[in-house]
Amino acid sequence: MEHIVIIGNGISGVTAARHIRKLSDKKITIISAESEYFFSRTALMYVYMGHMKFEHTQPYEDWFWKKNRIDLLNRYVTSVEANKKSLHFAEGDSIKYDKLIIATGSKSNKFGWPGQDLNGVQGLYHKQDLENLEVYAPNNKVCKRAVIVGGGLIGIELAEMLHTRNIPVTFLVRESSFWNGVLPEGESTMINRHIKNHHIDLRLSSNLKEIISDEYGKAKAVVIEETGETIDCDLVGLTAGVSPNIDFLKDSDIEIGRGVKVNRFLETNIKDVYAIGDCAEQHEPIGNRRPIEAVWYTGRMMGEALAQTICGNRTEYKPGHWFNSAKFFDIEYQTYGWVHGSKGRPDHEKHFHWKHQDDTKCITIAFDKDTFEFLGINTFGIRMRHEVFDTWLTEKRDLNYVVSNLSLANFDPEFYKKHEASILAEFQNQLTTA
Ligand SMILES: Cc1cc2nc3c(=O)[nH]c(=O)nc-3n(C[C@H](O)[C@H](O)[C@H](O)COP(=O)(O)OP(=O)(O)OC[C@H]3O[C@@H](n4cnc5c(N)ncnc54)[C@H](O)[C@@H]3O)c2cc1C
Repeated sequence: MEHIVIIGNGISGVTAARHIRKLSDKKITIISAESEYFFSRTALMYVYMGHMKFEHTQPYEDWFWKKNRIDLLNRYVTSVEANKKSLHFAEGDSIKYDKLIIATGSKSNKFGWPGQDLNGVQGLYHKQDLENLEVYAPNNKVCKRAVIVGGGLIGIELAEMLHTRNIPVTFLVRESSFWNGVLPEGESTMINRHIKNHHIDLRLSSNLKEIISDEYGKAKAVVIEETGETIDCDLVGLTAGVSPNIDFLKDSDIEIGRGVKVNRFLETNIKDVYAIGDCAEQHEPIGNRRPIEAVWYTGRMMGEALAQTICGNRTEYKPGHWFNSAKFFDIEYQTYGWVHGSKGRPDHEKHFHWKHQDDTKCITIAFDKDTFEFLGINTFGIRMRHEVFDTWLTEKRDLNYVVSNLSLANFDPEFYKKHEASILAEFQNQLTTA
């Protein structure tokens, strides 16, 4: 029986395994060094915040794996010997495969900062990071202040987590406005204010210079590059992005760049070796997408597509329209299609922007300045229906149509009844002054 070995029990590896099982009788082994069972990484924050226990982040009951004949192996893979089709483990043993799926996810970035490996310095990615938080930041007696370095989606989650335990937070953000490499200005500045309203000490245009150790090898302060200011702290959260977790492949014959290089079928340069999820890097990016897409649903879609290929129906990874969602403290964010920040925005992309006076809700619609074709939408504080925007993007609807029919996409009809007049008035205003 063909043996499929999957390194990584995250959403990508587990989706591939589940679908291979649905389609075939192959022997399946999933290897992970992180946790016994698959858990939802996106839910980690809620464990620290006390909304759920870690066990509740596990989407499947413990019996699921045995019942579905998916073997789980708790090991750390140190190397892949592709010509012998075998993997070697830190624990000293090894395993053979017929087909190998690399689904090893990401690791938190470290940029060589002095002190980055001290105790009390950590990312927020793995289960072990959550455990370390309980050691170094269980409450505001043990952790009198935390410093977070890197203003992205994980950084703001960590700020919210610490805030719920009343731990004062200083947030160092390299950019001049929060996440403005991605968000248009109106949204980014609204989020700056929202962060500050939660009493987070947000420092824009601020880089980490170094982390200072106490006499026991634990972080006790950081120094800011631009001002030389020293900030005392008990925890340093490094959240300046993630990168593929593939160091163990360096001496293998598998082609790697920043991630494991794959084609549209998620095949590597080595026959019978594939890569999916956060650790996979497309040779050529798909449309406006990045070559590495470190998001949950990408891993799921890749896992599904690859299961087909492994089971004999060679299937291209075709992700469709871009979408994503996240949360900035109390403000939910959704994005569909493409809405660029000022950096990298193509000349033909124009925006219609509406913001509610309470400063927690806004909409930005991107459109083509010549044809008025709808290109994408960002919504903050308003929950929208994915399938509606997906259809409008496919149908290449125009701006006027989208603005006039927004109520169809809105989950909360009351919201739209209340604000429709204001949105339409702003629309008329911006069109006439454009
Ligand atoms: C705090 C946080 C919040 C997030 N929120 C969102 C969100 O709201 N929306 C969204 O789209 N995405 C979000 N993401 C990103 C999303 O979680 C990832 O894109 C997704 O989990 C990646 O899945 P994966 O299966 O590719 O890898 P992973 O989930 O990283 O799984 C890979 C597994 O492989 C294991 N592994 C790695 N190397 C080895 C080895 N050599 N030997 C053995 N095991 C190994 C790892 O330990 C890990 O268990 C968030 C991420 C974090 C950290």
